[in-house]
Formats: sequence, structure tokens, C-alpha cells
Amino acid sequence: MTDIIKGDGAIRRQGLYGSSIENTYAGVLSFMRRNYSRDLTGADVVVSGIPLDLSTTFRSGARQGPQAIRAASVQLAELKPYPWGFDPFDDLAVIDYGDCWFDAHNPLTIKPSIIEHARTILASGAKMLTFGGDHFVTYPLLIAHAEKYGKPLALLHFDAHCDTWQDDDPDSLNHGTMFYKAVKEGLVDPKKSVQVGIRTWNDDFMGINVLGAPWVHDNGVDATIAEIKKTIGDAPVYVTFDIDCLDPSFAPGTGTPVPGGLTTAQALKIIRNLGDLNIVGMDVVEVAPSYDQSEITAIAAAHIACDMLCLMRNKKVAGKL
Ligand code: MN
Ligand code: MN
Repeated sequence: MTDIIKGDGAIRRQGLYGSSIENTYAGVLSFMRRNYSRDLTGADVVVSGIPLDLSTTFRSGARQGPQAIRAASVQLAELKPYPWGFDPFDDLAVIDYGDCWFDAHNPLTIKPSIIEHARTILASGAKMLTFGGDHFVTYPLLIAHAEKYGKPLALLHFDAHCDTWQDDDPDSLNHGTMFYKAVKEGLVDPKKSVQVGIRTWNDDFMGINVLGAPWVHDNGVDATIAEIKKTIGDAPVYVTFDIDCLDPSFAPGTGTPVPGGLTTAQALKIIRNLGDLNIVGMDVVEVAPSYDQSEITAIAAAHIACDMLCLMRNKKVAGKL
């Protein structure tokens, strides 16, 4: 690229393409140093945060997840991502839109605020890559994505928890019941949906196909990828990654950790092989930096998000975005 900026590319880059040279430990933070901007013009993918943690059932703290993931992404902005070997931003226009604003002190306004945030971005034609926040944020995101892309969507859901516990209160803020509501409301087709890494019990998985963590460990990553592709096919799919899908040894910084989860290596291999899917939206949620050690969790989340962007880059280059 001709306009090589040295430092603070997030606010100094002209145009949306290319990368800047940064001291990794310094400067204005944005996800992977993308333009920190509310101008949606020309953006292929819009990164934003939803700093909500009022819906948690155990430990709160995910409101600081978006900041932690941005901070952890600085190393990824320095080199071409591995194993891809290209700069995704030579071809893919990505902005960091900042965080969704909502009034945390008026809980009933939060869901509509998130839906409006997503509607604004999706109306531009861009895809969303969203950072939680607790997992509740995926529910209003699914509502907005189903409006845009048609319902029901397929759901690819990485998590220790199924998040289909029964909840018939339309106003509840609960990070364990979103997919119960999403299936009941027809936002998600359970037959075309897959949950990966589950290791908590629920009597009712709402008909969603479950590849529990023990199944992944017993059958391996290649079989997991094959099952995902077979079930979802070419259906429009929303990908949501609850970071507690990873084992607590790989992601201690989260609100409801459960032993026996996936390794970061397993998760990254699965994500990197999702290029055939028709992905319409993505999120990474439940990073709670106050319980993290040495940024392990935030760095894992940043890598997962970076790989999601690399999938989008390949789709754009192939004319399939
Ligand atoms: Mn979850
Ligand atoms: Mn979870």
C-alpha cells in the first residue's frame, strides 16, 4: 500500500484498506488497528462492542470484554495472520464502530437499543462482528439479523452452555435463555443449527444438534467440522462464540467457566475451516477480563475474531461475501 502510516492508524488512515506500522504496545486502540469510525460507507465488516453484563447468572465483568479484545488484538495487527499468510485488510474493508450505547440503568431499554445498533449497521450492507458483553447480546443481534437476512437462520453456537433454558418472559435479561427464545420465535431453525462444546445439562435442547465437548474430544476436530457442514449446508448462518466453550485453562477470564472444554487449538482449527458456510453475522462474547490471567482469554478471543475476518476476506476475494 502507498499510504503507510506509522502509528495510530485507527484515526489517521485515509480510506479503509491496508495496514499501518504500529508499536504494538502503544497508540489508539481499535480492533486490529482498523479505522475507529462511525462512517459505514464502503465497509464490508463492522466490528463493534456491546458492553453489557447485566444478564449474567454467576460472575459479571463481561462489560469490559470489548476493550480487552481490542487491547489483545495489537499483536495481530503487526503481522500477516497465521496460517493465512495475507493481510486481510488489503482486500476486506473493516471498521471498528466503537461500542453500542445503551442506558444500563433502564434495563428495559437495553434490548431495543442493541437491536437499533445492529439495524443501523446492517442497513449499510456490511456484515457485523460483535464483541460482548455477556451472551444475552446475541438475542437482539439475532432479531436484527433475521430481519435483514430472513428467518429462520441457522445458528452455529460454540459454548459450554446450551443457553436454551426455559424463559417465557419477553423482557428478561438472561444470558442462559436466548436460544430458547430464538427457536420459539422462529429466528433460528434448530434442525440446521449446531452447538459445539456443550458440557452442562439441560433437559431440553430445543431440537438443536449438540456436539458436546466429550463428543469433540472423542471424535476429533475433523469430524466436528464435517458434522457442522453437513447440518448447516448453505443456509444463512449466524456464528456465535461464547468464550467459555474453551476450557478454563485456555479461557479463565469468563463469568461461568466449566472444566472439560475445547483447547484454543481445537477451536481455531474449527473456525478456520468454516469458509464454505454462508456466514451472515458473527460474535465473540463473555470475555470478562477481571478474571483473566496474562490476557489468555482476551488473546484467544482476538485470534478467533481475526480468523472470522480472514474467512470473510476469502469470501470477498471469491466474490461470495
Ligand atoms: Mn453462552
Ligand atoms: Mn457459556
